[in-house]
Amino acid sequence: MGTPQDLRRVVVVLDEPQDPVNIGGVVRAMKNMGLSRLYLVGPVDFDPWRIEGVAHTGLDVIESARVFDRLEDAIADAHLVLGTTARGRRVRRNYRRPREAGIEVLAACRAGQEVALVFGREDRGLSNAALDLCSRVVVIPSDPEHASLNLAQAVLILAYEVFLAAGSELPFKEPRHTAARARREEFGILFQEIEASLHAVDFFKAHKVEPIMRTVREVAARADLDERETALFKAMAYEVRNFLDRHGL
Ligand code: SAH
Repeated sequence: MGTPQDLRRVVVVLDEPQDPVNIGGVVRAMKNMGLSRLYLVGPVDFDPWRIEGVAHTGLDVIESARVFDRLEDAIADAHLVLGTTARGRRVRRNYRRPREAGIEVLAACRAGQEVALVFGREDRGLSNAALDLCSRVVVIPSDPEHASLNLAQAVLILAYEVFLAAGSELPFKEPRHTAARARREEFGILFQEIEASLHAVDFFKAHKVEPIMRTVREVAARADLDERETALFKAMAYEVRNFLDRHGL
């Protein structure tokens, strides 16, 4: 599918990422969610091929990634900057949850604005000074005792919300074989077969025919069996009797 048009305005900014494996994970998450622009601020030394090895894809994202010395420079062109942190701190900020953030990001993109999603370093996250540069701060809800997510997983969650807000998800494909709903006559034969096979195994010795068969009909109606499925169950019931006959039982 490639990057949906609206999402081209979104940049993922990693502030001082320390581990190439995480950068690879971020690239993969971006590819999954239709994002393609990556900015790195003072990253650890990395080999693009190693990152591609982790990401399994996305060499284009790595090769076109821009590297900056200062976060200020990386976000200079953005109109809307969303920082992320594991813990809403005491400081008053414009906190957002991922869902609202995704919607806001999309609205900004559609208004022709550039959006930066900023993520902090693995060991200590974004500093207060870095969060001061952000007009929104997104906190992904999590267990307070284990609030901090892996960097790439945090990127994935936010990128997913942006992807959904963009309406980029395709409907599930129709199953390859769609059989028509079974005709009533076929249905009738199915129940005859089931009833006959239940008789053959003496099921009704302990159960009344009518309520049992009513339940069977009700379940079949609820399952909305198609022609193929009806034929399959009919064959199963038929084979029960056939087996008993063959073995003289
Ligand atoms: N020990 C650091 C954890 C940093 S995790 C701390 O407590 O801040 C690396 C980055 O992943 C964070 O800077 C943030 O960008 C992102 N992240 C991790 N957990 C997050 C959460 N629950 N909500 C939003 N972002 C999160």
